[in-house]
Amino acid sequence: MGNDTAETHMTDVDIAIVGGGPAGLSAALALVRARRSVIVIDGGQPRNRFAPHMHGVLGHDGLPPAELLRLGRAEVEGYGGMFISGEATTASVGRDGIRVAVEGRAVRARRLLVATGLRDELPDIDGLREQWGRGVVVCPYCDGWERRNGVIGIVATSPQSVEQAQLLRQWSDRIVYFVNGVGDPDDEATRRLLARGIRIERRAIARIRTDRDDRLTGVELVGGSVVEVGAVFTGPTMHPRDELLLALGAATTEARGMRWVAVDADGRTSIPGVWAVGNVVDPRANVPVSLGAGALIAGAINAGLVDEDVAAALDPAREPQAGRSPGSSGGSLSVKEARSN
Ligand SMILES: Cc1cc2nc3c(=O)[nH]c(=O)nc-3n(C[C@H](O)[C@H](O)[C@H](O)COP(=O)(O)OP(=O)(O)OC[C@H]3O[C@@H](n4cnc5c(N)ncnc54)[C@H](O)[C@@H]3O)c2cc1C
Repeated sequence: MGNDTAETHMTDVDIAIVGGGPAGLSAALALVRARRSVIVIDGGQPRNRFAPHMHGVLGHDGLPPAELLRLGRAEVEGYGGMFISGEATTASVGRDGIRVAVEGRAVRARRLLVATGLRDELPDIDGLREQWGRGVVVCPYCDGWERRNGVIGIVATSPQSVEQAQLLRQWSDRIVYFVNGVGDPDDEATRRLLARGIRIERRAIARIRTDRDDRLTGVELVGGSVVEVGAVFTGPTMHPRDELLLALGAATTEARGMRWVAVDADGRTSIPGVWAVGNVVDPRANVPVSLGAGALIAGAINAGLVDEDVAAALDPAREPQAGRSPGSSGGSLSVKEARSN
């Protein structure tokens, strides 16, 4: 595969994509169809792997998340896209391209796209983690419809959780806001919650209750009383999986009280040749947004490579080093040929 040699085990491609979730795979599909050689390095831990079904994804509403990725991966492979299973551990930018190390192998690419998603840190409540993605969820647009008109608990993770309670009120008029020691609403927020009939529960939470079939049934309070709810929504602390980008020295910006790697509208980071897309740089990127952003950014990456190919055609001394796609002036090596080398 690629330009492997016994000495280096190096694979040369146009674009290395780290992360094979919706954002990375969508970009990969656009790029392989643009006849670019692409390798996707993926650790196989997409954020929504805990959920049995995915909602709000046009044409795929209700599909298991893993099935979307299986379909996407098959599509990318169908055009010659390559995959490595495993975690990329380091990346470095040099004159001859960007190198990514993964599981004892190395990939050299003209461009690096990081689509590594984020990790959710859940509130530390007995039984909550076990229900994540089923009885305990985060996104009203993903799971609100299925919980409509039911009793919905909001387990606060900060005073901003009152906004999640107000949002969920759109799906049900039976909302219980659990302050959980960290989300005490101020006077104005209290007035707004009560105005919409949202109950405020200030007693401390002991655990999440489930029935014999492992379905969430309620929130048990310290002291033993139980508030029966059919679902819990909570706002985990998000940790972007941006270690590779930070190690490269990518500039960051502050948004929603957190630091994120800064990207422009086309997904460019401050590091030349390095791009990022999806939840790793955008907490609002649900599946459809990640798919769209991946496709958009793929177009911008390809446009930059075309510019570079033109410059190389005008001045052969500037021939691109890594990855030789059919459009580049460095010779015509199709993806299929690259795989069989
Ligand atoms: C419980 C839950 C339910 C959800 N339900 C929905 C829903 O119904 N509808 C919806 O639209 N959205 C839903 N979402 C949101 C959805 O999960 C995200 O929008 C989506 O996963 C973002 O896609 P992504 O490609 O940016 O990241 P991810 O899907 O998280 O993919 C990132 C990939 O990168 C890999 N990776 C990370 N670091 C490395 C590394 N160093 N090397 C190699 N690979 C790496 C990971 O293993 C993973 O496979 C849900 C989220 C949660 C938590």
